[in-house]
Amino acid sequence: MRFFRSPLLARYLIRKGIWKGSDKNAIYLTFDDGPNPEVTPFVLSVLRKYKIKATFFCVGNNVKNYPEVYGQILEEGHRVGNHTMFHENGIKTANHAYIESVENASNYIDSDLFRPPYGKVSPTQFKTLVKTLKKKVVFWTWISNDWDKTLASSEIILKAKSIRGGDILVFHDSLKAQKNLTESLEIIIQMLQKRNFHFKNNF
Ligand SMILES: [Zn+2]
Repeated sequence: MRFFRSPLLARYLIRKGIWKGSDKNAIYLTFDDGPNPEVTPFVLSVLRKYKIKATFFCVGNNVKNYPEVYGQILEEGHRVGNHTMFHENGIKTANHAYIESVENASNYIDSDLFRPPYGKVSPTQFKTLVKTLKKKVVFWTWISNDWDKTLASSEIILKAKSIRGGDILVFHDSLKAQKNLTESLEIIIQMLQKRNFHFKNNF
């Protein structure tokens, strides 16, 4: 069983993180784990079609490997955020190594936004990110679980009915998520537009 909405307990424990957008009439689309030369261009074309500006939380190593795809994200007016250098899990990584990874990724990604991979970050890491590195740590309210290959895209589309105004949504521009992403993203955008939501990327 997969959870689509972030648990209230987590939101309470990390109160200084950003969990929701400020506009209740808007939806905030975010894409994690790219850039990827096969998947990111698809996302960019969908966003172009629906005139949506989104936020991409990029893995430093992917920006290093695919600078032209990263450049395309910026060129099309989207926001970017830091998602560590190698997608480290904060809970399983020593604090100094974790912060070093974020700083390393900052050499490739110029942004004050940060999203911890898996949403996992230790209290010490969180404090350093906010106080020393001056990052805004962005979590989410609704995650598509698109990377889960045991999950059908029809299930994701069904669960998208639970999306509410102000929600920060997570999809992944990664190969793992490619099938579910391509099968669900446009349909979910259309569903949300029918509910009269607009899309923003300034949380
Ligand atoms: Zn990630």
